[in-house]
Amino acid sequence: MFGDLFEEDFSFISNNHCGKGKKSKPRDSEPPAPRDFTRLSGIKNQGGTCYLNSLLQTLLFTPEFREALFSLGPEELGTLDDSSKPDAKVRIIPLQLQRLFAQLLLLDQQAASTTDLTESFGWNSHEEMRQHDVQELNRILFSALETSLVGTSGHDLINRLYHGIVVNQIVCKECKNISERQEDFLDLTVAVKGVTGLEEALWNMYVEEEYFENENLYRCGACDKLVEASKSAKLRKLPPFLTVSLLRFNFDFEKCERYKETSCYTFPIQINLRPFCEQTEMDDSEYMYELFSVIIHKGGCYGGHYHVYIRDVDELGNWQLQEEEDRLIEDKALRDIKNAKEIENPLAVLKGILAEEESKQIPVDQLGQKLLEKKGVSWNKKYRKQYGALRKYLQNHPQIFQFSPDENKVGLKEKHKLLFKSDSQGQDLQSSPHKNDVQWNSEKTLTRLRDGSAGCHWFDLNDSKVQPIKEKDIEKQFQGKESAYMLFYRKSELKRPPEARGNPRYQIPEHLLNEMNAANTELQKKRAECDSANNGIDLHLHLSSCYKFHNGALHPSLTWKESVVDLTIDRRKTLGDLRQSVFQMLESWEGDMILSIAKPLPAGLHLYQILDGDELTLDGIGLADGADLFVWNGKEVGGTKVMTGPDHEPVVINVLHLAEYNEGGKGQHFTESQHVFSCSTKVGDLHTALAPSGGIILKNGSGLDKEAKNWEVFREEDMKETVKSVGLTDGCSVLILDSHDQSFVNVSSGNLTAFTYDISWLQVKNFCRTDGDEKHVKITATIETVMSDIKRKAIRELQLEEELANDSCLRPISGNGKLLSPVPEDYTVKEAELKMGSLLGLCHGKAPASTQLFLYFIVGSDQNASPEMEIVVEETVSVKECLNLMLEKSGLSGDNWHLRRIDWCYEAGEALSQENATLKELNVCRGDTLVIMEGKLPPKGFLKIPIWWLKSSSHKKRGENAQDQVNGMTCKMDALQVSPSGDSPEYIHPDMDLCYAGSIEIAGEASLEDLKMQYVLIWHLLICHVQW
Ligand SMILES: [Zn+2]
Repeated sequence: MFGDLFEEDFSFISNNHCGKGKKSKPRDSEPPAPRDFTRLSGIKNQGGTCYLNSLLQTLLFTPEFREALFSLGPEELGTLDDSSKPDAKVRIIPLQLQRLFAQLLLLDQQAASTTDLTESFGWNSHEEMRQHDVQELNRILFSALETSLVGTSGHDLINRLYHGIVVNQIVCKECKNISERQEDFLDLTVAVKGVTGLEEALWNMYVEEEYFENENLYRCGACDKLVEASKSAKLRKLPPFLTVSLLRFNFDFEKCERYKETSCYTFPIQINLRPFCEQTEMDDSEYMYELFSVIIHKGGCYGGHYHVYIRDVDELGNWQLQEEEDRLIEDKALRDIKNAKEIENPLAVLKGILAEEESKQIPVDQLGQKLLEKKGVSWNKKYRKQYGALRKYLQNHPQIFQFSPDENKVGLKEKHKLLFKSDSQGQDLQSSPHKNDVQWNSEKTLTRLRDGSAGCHWFDLNDSKVQPIKEKDIEKQFQGKESAYMLFYRKSELKRPPEARGNPRYQIPEHLLNEMNAANTELQKKRAECDSANNGIDLHLHLSSCYKFHNGALHPSLTWKESVVDLTIDRRKTLGDLRQSVFQMLESWEGDMILSIAKPLPAGLHLYQILDGDELTLDGIGLADGADLFVWNGKEVGGTKVMTGPDHEPVVINVLHLAEYNEGGKGQHFTESQHVFSCSTKVGDLHTALAPSGGIILKNGSGLDKEAKNWEVFREEDMKETVKSVGLTDGCSVLILDSHDQSFVNVSSGNLTAFTYDISWLQVKNFCRTDGDEKHVKITATIETVMSDIKRKAIRELQLEEELANDSCLRPISGNGKLLSPVPEDYTVKEAELKMGSLLGLCHGKAPASTQLFLYFIVGSDQNASPEMEIVVEETVSVKECLNLMLEKSGLSGDNWHLRRIDWCYEAGEALSQENATLKELNVCRGDTLVIMEGKLPPKGFLKIPIWWLKSSSHKKRGENAQDQVNGMTCKMDALQVSPSGDSPEYIHPDMDLCYAGSIEIAGEASLEDLKMQYVLIWHLLICHVQW
């Protein structure tokens, strides 16, 4: 099935863009995860390639194999860079295998990819990736490698390491002639069925003899006859690496199916092969083998998963079992607690440090340095606040610390040195002799543990996952659904050079080392980038030099953009780092630099707490992405003292004064202005500021986007309250009434009950702009406010051009968002029937005057086919004129149209048949919708008469007696509804089989005879055309 999968055809490969040149896959945005604590790399599963991964890991952890492979240089293999050159001889498979091994050894990633290698096999599709048998793959891979190494110094690589010989002998009992046949092997296949383990299987194969006797005789070539003989097999040549395949998969001939042998099958960690060998007189070391890899199959015989237990012979990985890891962590935690407790007491800490200095005295600043190095704390940060300066502290304890005569150096007094030592030794006789010498470096402990457990170093390599296991875990794979499938032994005599131990770079050629170094640097860079990208926060720095304090808050003196500097910084950095960065950005900063949290409020920028604690991380002090910071001297901005904190937040308040009646003499008018007060301002002060000559002040608690509330009068006792405590927030309004207005107010109730008009708001949304910026504003109004005033105010609030007033109108917006008909400008809110708080759209187009009608119209009754259109007409136009205007607007022509009203279910209803009547006369109202329908209305005085056809129950042939039928029909005329210009009536006579046959238009004064004539005409048309 693999057939030529691994064959390298150089002519083919020279055109094949394998290897480096082909790597054009998009880079993942996230770099691959680094190796975990085992420091070994797994291999990604490319989809059913776990058997390949297990085998590749086994080859990698056969140091002799990988070193032999690495010893083949570019002069023999070519280079992958040349793989696209037409004449270059490039041996892709060994090159890709070299690179993969280098990656597995050196590239800091959790799992390597085998894509390039399998591509070098010509193995691209999933079909080819389907699981195969690992024994089969082993042979195919070896033969592929062998083939591709022909003509190089590595041509015998596989043979050198894996080739063994079995000899089969048959000895003739009569002439003692030995007939001999040799068999080469790269791996031994041994039975599992009916055998308890590897030794028994080998015994059966290479010790037991088979006899030819009785009926089953052997034909001896020498004797030339059938003779008794004995047959045996022996291992003639042992390879350095012995691969054993277990026959776990068998065929059940009775059931005619494959099955997996799950019985117990033991195999030793060490095995002496002497009993199975032909030559047995050599030294024991020649026969001793050690297990170093077990490929495990998990599952049934039609699929499953492979993983591999491998002994890391060179101890490249960090073999640290989880429980030991846990113990280490526990130890460390204990140490940390102890450390933390100790650290709380500076006397103990300093004594500890000085005790380690033996008899020496050290400079005081060096002591500070050692404190930082050993305990990770700085005196100034940790103790200074509580205990004062270090030197001072030392001097305050003369009974413990002794200064040099020049007071620059310090040491422990003699008796404390002794006390301290006996102290520490007394209390921990059992633990390490250096308990007080706290283990600063956990690596030390790791090394010690690793050394203690040397000789094990077994790992479970399961695709991407690598974890350490105990040697005795191997026994779990003796039997069951998950059990050993291939065993790899290495000759015990094979010793590894000491320089290879723990050195993954050992024997890797220079160019691969360089490639891996570069790749690691790149990885590190990407990880760092990714890391800081994940941890980067954007801060907006507002510089005090660009701000002015006025109207109760800070405002940029330039544009907002120019006053803000953006800074991206890692959230794990400290406030000190941030300060440093800001200093660097603002080269010319002088004096103190205070960083305060700032927040843009409706009134302007307001400052909150000052950032403090330079050693704290930005994350720790809660600086989030997008935070605003104010950079200043902490006192004033442009000479004005700035109050900070939530108690001094500025609040924007809408101040309304009831003004004189406006020009038109109609409606209530307000002057409106915005004032900023600190929320700590007393209401009394606010009152004095807004109404210096006295008067009444009322508040309305409905701020922006809040529900409308009633006006409330501030009472005398409220005057001591603050803006904040009475609930005045941004957008709230206060109303100042002069003394003469006070009659409007019923002060005793506290509510504005006696005020003539309800003061409230209308909301206006901007529909004039097409750029989607539909801002909306609130306009104060009473029910007597005139619409034109509201419009003017809205235009101002929305910051639109004043000229817009001449070409815009206000249109109420219905609950479902539809723009309703515009409100006449001279209407008051009351006349326009607007509810307070309702939403109006400011739209292009003139509002209709009070003598004009705003109408919607559609063409045809199908709303979907024709969009609704709008038109403004004088209410005195006739139906005909109106129709013409509408036709003109919708681009239609001709006179085959008429107008209808729309009925309650939004379908074409009653026709406006009096063409010359005015809209006013017909009671067409503002906002009505009319429909333009195709077809002419009957001229005045004409009737439209529906015609029905009576089918008699005994069917006469069509046309046979038409006249009779017509007569019959006419007799029943009075039974039918005759309606002028009506639609098809729904009336059907119950006793008769009636069919609607269309309608006839006829003058009201025409005779019945005329009608008959018309009908006969129709009837003839009917009988001539079946389709009617
Ligand atoms: Zn013989």
